[in-house]
Amino acid sequence: MAVPKRKTSPSRRGMRRAHDSLSVEAFQECPNCGELKRPHNLCGSCGHYNGREIVSVEG
Ligand SMILES: [Zn+2]
Repeated sequence: MAVPKRKTSPSRRGMRRAHDSLSVEAFQECPNCGELKRPHNLCGSCGHYNGREIVSVEG
């Protein structure tokens, strides 16, 4: 089994983990109902996208 020759130093470990942080989820207001939705996705509360209803939401 291949095994690392040297222990990863705290500095190296930190450099590797420098890109591990989570980014903030993108969101914008739905122009139809005003709920927050993800861009380029149809609205989860009213089912609208690009100014028209794609999926009907009962209730
Ligand atoms: Zn909506």
